[in-house]
Amino acid sequence: MLRRLTLFADRDLYVTGCMPIVQMDRICSICTPHIIHPDEIASRADGVGTRGAGAIGVVQVASGCLGRCSYCITRFARGRLVSAPREAILDAVRGLVAEGAYEIQLTGQDVAAWGLDRGESLPELLLDIAEIPGKFAVRPGMMNPAAVLGILEPLVDAYESDKIFRFLHLPVQSGSDAVLERMQRGYRAADVVRIVDTFRERFPDMMISSDFITGFPGETDEEFSQTLDLLRRAAFVKVNITRYSRRPGTPAAALKDLPERIRKDRSRMLLAETNRIYDAYNERWLGRETPIVATEKNAPGSTVCRNSCYLNVVVDEDLPFGFSGRAVITGNRRHYVTAKLVPPGGEKV
Ligand code: SF4
Repeated sequence: MLRRLTLFADRDLYVTGCMPIVQMDRICSICTPHIIHPDEIASRADGVGTRGAGAIGVVQVASGCLGRCSYCITRFARGRLVSAPREAILDAVRGLVAEGAYEIQLTGQDVAAWGLDRGESLPELLLDIAEIPGKFAVRPGMMNPAAVLGILEPLVDAYESDKIFRFLHLPVQSGSDAVLERMQRGYRAADVVRIVDTFRERFPDMMISSDFITGFPGETDEEFSQTLDLLRRAAFVKVNITRYSRRPGTPAAALKDLPERIRKDRSRMLLAETNRIYDAYNERWLGRETPIVATEKNAPGSTVCRNSCYLNVVVDEDLPFGFSGRAVITGNRRHYVTAKLVPPGGEKV
């Protein structure tokens, strides 16, 4: 980010997120930006709900978290968990649905922890949201495995609703128990397998995505191979891979970094495996007919749609946002699949 700020230092810059809170001096040594505090984003949007692009609405259900991850700077910037009140969230969802949003994204540093500071829990919130009348589906945001473990069974039950996408973003960071311990993540690799298996037993096509950090200080070849094993075992689709880089003031910053070459090589290996899994997941949809709803536009003449597993389905037609129909999946483009609309009353494939 500092490199990017340097590139555009002569422009009118707006900077937000956690970084200006903890590294304002470094930013100001490069440029003189307008700073938007993360907490102001919601207030500027006049509530917890914000209209996104296309048929997307965003509801920030909480800020902060209950974690104490040793590499994380976000927890200094965002602090402890503060959940938005249930009624405010329900009102925001109702408002966004009334404005025409179909995909409701619930966001927060750890959505699974929603309500723990208020004596409530995420599955109850999801059930309440699912009761709201209208045509919409919720895309739950990032959930820390440690918080998911405490609500696993009711959470899987809540996903039974048609109004919840069968999509889970479960950032696991490493498949090595020793590295997870050094990261202070609060769970073990076997816990992640249990979460993934519990969801997939109920919803075999469920899309489960994840985040990994490669080259955490002291990560051995064996520990890295455990990460590859977990990635394969859990078959995560869509994986964000971050090469470890120290964050000032965090406990992990005091540890000795691994050479850059090792961190890069491991990222490359993880990416190659991720792509293989992504292709395999998409290919199992080929030839299948699935209900879709149009939510976004990326290019003229085509429309991005989602099915119930949040599959990124691109149809070569200009469809209005919120359009719903059926489509047959025809091609795998790794980060999305292509599809042809089935005419109403068309044959099932
Ligand atoms: S990585 Fe996530 S869960 Fe851990 S301290 Fe940072 S924000 Fe919290």
